[in-house]
Amino acid sequence: MIASALESAAAAEHYGLRNDQIILSAKVSGVRDLIDIYTKMAARCSYALHLGLTEAGMGMKGLVASAAGLSPLLLAGIGDTIRVSLTPDPEKAKIDPHAARKEEVMAAQQILQSLSLRSFLPQVTSCPGCGRTTSTYFQELAANIQQYVRDTMPEWRKKYPGVEELKIAVMGCVVNGPGESKHANLGISLPGTFEEPKAPVYIDGKLSTTLRGDGIIAEFQQILNHYVETHYGERA
Ligand code: SF4
Repeated sequence: MIASALESAAAAEHYGLRNDQIILSAKVSGVRDLIDIYTKMAARCSYALHLGLTEAGMGMKGLVASAAGLSPLLLAGIGDTIRVSLTPDPEKAKIDPHAARKEEVMAAQQILQSLSLRSFLPQVTSCPGCGRTTSTYFQELAANIQQYVRDTMPEWRKKYPGVEELKIAVMGCVVNGPGESKHANLGISLPGTFEEPKAPVYIDGKLSTTLRGDGIIAEFQQILNHYVETHYGERA
């Protein structure tokens, strides 16, 4: 497969295409085959390489297989463009016929951002929850902030250059949560089992305020908006 691809590329150059006008892509559906073939291609040529599993599968299987295949190659500096190919979920497709295509783009962006190769969206880190968490409140806050960031990003991208580098942490208890919060630009730890009903907020590693009561989600969103405006806007 590699030899014939290289022969075709050489023929294209012979007939007038420049080296930098050629992109090679292999049709592969197995993770190990993908890594093996592209590693060999990168060693044998200087053409741009387009990485991705041709048939990754559906849902979780397709997402994990794509990340498992692309990550070692990208970390080794191999690959110039990427794709994620997911089989559409029939239920999601009934609601939005383009759901799988959107998911593919989001997955490809998330792979690049998880590897710190390129940033697209502020990242929300949240803990898995454990015996210390009493309710689903912190999961709701994490989901709410994640969705809010995604929905607001088209506007933020225009007004606040660099906002895609922002890191937010939403943690489920005040025992271990503050540690992770301090590594984020903005972090909040919600009260866990038997803890006082208060939520400390850390900004750039320092305790900034403590939220209480029923309006924690709305107040944290306000703090987030203020942080974005003052750190990435014209006033920054
Ligand atoms: S931060 Fe707290 S609630 Fe979350 S997993 Fe760690 S110990 Fe559990």
